Amino acid sequence: VHEELSKKEKLAVIGQMAAAIGHEIRNPLSSLKGFTQLQLESKSSNSEFYPIMLQEIDRINSIVDDLMYLGKPREIDFKKVDMEEIVNYTISLICQQAESQGVKVETSIDTPIPLVDCDEKQLKQVFINLLKNAVEAMSNGGNLKIEIKMAEESSLDIVIEDNGCGIDAASLENLFEAFYTTKSDGTGLGLLITRQIIKDHGGSLKIESILGAGTKVIVHLPIAHNSI
Ligand code: ADP
Ligand code: MG
Repeated sequence: VHEELSKKEKLAVIGQMAAAIGHEIRNPLSSLKGFTQLQLESKSSNSEFYPIMLQEIDRINSIVDDLMYLGKPREIDFKKVDMEEIVNYTISLICQQAESQGVKVETSIDTPIPLVDCDEKQLKQVFINLLKNAVEAMSNGGNLKIEIKMAEESSLDIVIEDNGCGIDAASLENLFEAFYTTKSDGTGLGLLITRQIIKDHGGSLKIESILGAGTKVIVHLPIAHNSI
């Protein structure tokens, strides 16, 4: 059912978003203010606070980056891309964190996969978000499995499986809510952006999870843009 939001409802949604964004940015800002004041009041410079201050600035930056991604009308730059290359590239970005946490990364590709019509930059963003979530769920080590396989009707599935902390049934409902996060340094925007990009590509995103056992994320993508 197609539902048009009334002007009043739209304003209410914007109001809620603005309040949530304000809240998210105010936390790191007030800690930055505190540290700056501390520096000002003490005669000598306390450089030990700089790493924390930098971290807080980074946090504001990543919130703003994520919001820009959601806010701007996405121009999708469709090109034929090797999905294995994209996946391998994003693995190379997370492999250091994976290694330091004792996470083993394993990839499997069953048959030759045709080139996929997609926006390379946006799909990299998708896999960075999903692989980071998987690694972050395995703080005490584990196995990260990434599988690329053909699916029906000229589409493919990219399956990302971890045996990390898992998600309980009630929380599974909240995953795509803006700012929903269980991490002290999370933005809670990653999955929302990820799902939007996949939808823009005519695909779908499915998340299955068992608390304490692990999580399986299935990215379903059409191979050709005109088949959407
Ligand atoms: P963030 O990573 O900044 O918290 P996301 O939108 O990427 O935001 O994820 C939202 C929440 O979903 C996470 O905080 C976490 O609780 C849960 N989550 C996502 N992926 C996984 C996973 N692979 N294993 C366990 N929990 C996950
Ligand atoms: Mg995330």
